[in-house]
Amino acid sequence: GDRGVYNFAAGPATLPESVLLKAQSELYNYRGSGMSIMEMSHRGKEFDAVIKKAESDLRTLLSISDDFAVLFFQGGATTQFAAVPLNLCKLEDHTDYIVTGSWSDKAFKEAQKFCKPSLIWSGKAEKYTKIPSFDEIQQNPDAKYLHICGNETIHGVEFKDYPETKNQTSILVADMSSNFCSKPVDVSKFGVIYAGAQKNVGPSGVTIVIVRRDLMGDAQPITPVMLDYKTQSDHASLYNTPPCYGIYFCGLVFEDLLDQGGLEAVERKNAKKAGILYDAIDGSGGFYVCPVEKSVRSLMNVPFTLQKSELEKKFIEEAAKEGMVQLKGHRSVGGVRASIYNAMPLAGVEKLVAFLKDFQARHP
Ligand code: PMP
Repeated sequence: GDRGVYNFAAGPATLPESVLLKAQSELYNYRGSGMSIMEMSHRGKEFDAVIKKAESDLRTLLSISDDFAVLFFQGGATTQFAAVPLNLCKLEDHTDYIVTGSWSDKAFKEAQKFCKPSLIWSGKAEKYTKIPSFDEIQQNPDAKYLHICGNETIHGVEFKDYPETKNQTSILVADMSSNFCSKPVDVSKFGVIYAGAQKNVGPSGVTIVIVRRDLMGDAQPITPVMLDYKTQSDHASLYNTPPCYGIYFCGLVFEDLLDQGGLEAVERKNAKKAGILYDAIDGSGGFYVCPVEKSVRSLMNVPFTLQKSELEKKFIEEAAKEGMVQLKGHRSVGGVRASIYNAMPLAGVEKLVAFLKDFQARHP
């Protein structure tokens, strides 16, 4: 784009240029209403149309059946770490957690306040570079649900398919914050999918929750009304004032993803971008190293280190000078992380790949 940078931030992250420009053009006077979306009643006809279209476009994108409610929440994915056990089980119930990185670890720890979660697999000893094989994990027969993080944003580890839950009554729950709408997902395999918007689909402040309808209506008595899936569903996400502008913006992104040909087309683009970047890392003769097991490498977040770690700071600074910003790895792991969400153009990744090669050639 003509803003002069490619933004590799992990989230909030780069958004589609066409969507930003459209939002800008509608910001001051939304479609002749004389008001901005930010200034309107959330119960007025304009916003009613906005939220309904956003939901319906998301349903089309992910082929979400009417067995599921699509809800817009606030509080980020972090709030869902609590909302999931509050809605799906009782304080004394057992639940299962697979921990493949920092985010699923946080979800597991939060759940300890609201149920009896078991850590049935952890990748910590291997520095979160793996996903377990599904027959290797021991699920508790009485677990109410199995929680996973579809894509670990910090460690770059992504589920490529999904475990089946052990018993009929148990359900699969996934935090898909950082790979939401990056590829098709068979929603019918899940009880709950939740995602903060600020990576692939919009600004922070909106959290999307897709929940099977028959799982709602039995929340723990202590559940704050704002976290009760049934309440939000009964009020079509308008129990209180929702994050109107964020929902509007997500709607523009959903429209754009449909215009691109839907999530199959989006996945093909993402696979191509990630492919050239991982190839460059693996083809560097060890100059750059991605520690994640190849079969589970994320299409969205590509973490890597430099064998000569003393060069990392210089790498990040020089890349920024060339217009490739926000490449610093998460403060907990260091190194470099290139987040290449839907809105990162192929040209941005090609430029980064060229820079990787050039930087290596200059530091023999
Ligand atoms: N889960 C994942 C996978 C994330 O990447 C993040 C944010 N980086 C969170 C949860 C927490 O999200 P929030 O800041 O919206 O609460």
